[in-house]
Amino acid sequence: MDRRSVIKNAGIAGVLAAGAAPVVHAQGATIRWRLASSFPKALDTIYGAAEVFAKKVGEMSGGKFTISVHAGGELVPAMGVLDGSSNGTVEMAHTAPYYFFGKDPTYALDCAIPFGLNSRQMTAWMYQGNGMKLLREFYANAGVVNFPMGNTGAQMGGWYRKEIKSVEDLKGLKFRVGGFGGKVLSKLGTIPQNIPGGEIYTSLEKGTIDAAEWVGPYDDLKLGFNKVAPHYYYPGWWEGGPQLSLYVNKKAYDGLSSEYKAIVEAAAAYAHTDMQAKYDIKNPGALKTLVGQGVKLHPFPKDVMAAAFKSAQEVYAELSASNPAWKKIYADYSAYRAEANLWFRFTEARFDSFMQSQKL
Ligand code: CA
Repeated sequence: MDRRSVIKNAGIAGVLAAGAAPVVHAQGATIRWRLASSFPKALDTIYGAAEVFAKKVGEMSGGKFTISVHAGGELVPAMGVLDGSSNGTVEMAHTAPYYFFGKDPTYALDCAIPFGLNSRQMTAWMYQGNGMKLLREFYANAGVVNFPMGNTGAQMGGWYRKEIKSVEDLKGLKFRVGGFGGKVLSKLGTIPQNIPGGEIYTSLEKGTIDAAEWVGPYDDLKLGFNKVAPHYYYPGWWEGGPQLSLYVNKKAYDGLSSEYKAIVEAAAAYAHTDMQAKYDIKNPGALKTLVGQGVKLHPFPKDVMAAAFKSAQEVYAELSASNPAWKKIYADYSAYRAEANLWFRFTEARFDSFMQSQKL
């Protein structure tokens, strides 16, 4: 071994011993990063949250830290953004973590599980409960640092060509459903279908599927599902408060100055609040428009809700017995869910139900 390679190898060993310490950017350094979204540009609500974030980072850094936002499929496939941000193909990603439940169902706890936390409770668990701490430990295995970045609020239960009168009607139903809900629905005999947003309309129109859920009135109206399936059900019990997440490649994040780390954190929190606010402003008008166009609104029958709740508890017990990461995080999540609902059922729920029954 010549002298040069000895020095080179010693250098590598030194870096490895130090945990491959990244080069830290100087305060105020000019940097350009890329963010891969899982969503199409047409969804100004969900895709828009990443743009709101990037704009804020630019403003707070005086234009020195710029982030370009790319739609699903542009740099990496829509469902490939976890891998992309994990291996450093992109520095950042914005996604609905339950897309990755096939890798590990634990990812769904960073987004939504059937009969999970609502939007406000999810934010509380992340920012002030143990959610962030537990999920950061989990994401460290993927080399990703996660931040909450948006929530849709409780989603609708989707569009059905025929009425759902009882739990029996779910048997054999071909239903496009996002994320983790399919796991619970398949226990009730439903055949979950994984179809990208852009292809749902045609599948419903052709009758390849019997029903489909997407988000809620504002996004659903844009995709026109009401023209091919008139029955619109609520609530989307599999998505009571789905959270979107910002992923930052851990090495890239560790290389940011403390000033830029604070900017990323604050801009993500800003985009998080902004997205829920956008939905809360846009959904009421969209629902009125849909009803005006003849959409039939129905609550899910009680036996559907009860059977789905029961089958969800079975899925969670099975996962807690087989997956240690799920077991650890779900234990904390479900303990907080019980506490939060005990509190919310008093003054929040009473106030909301009184106000919602008034003529305003
Ligand atoms: Ca959905």
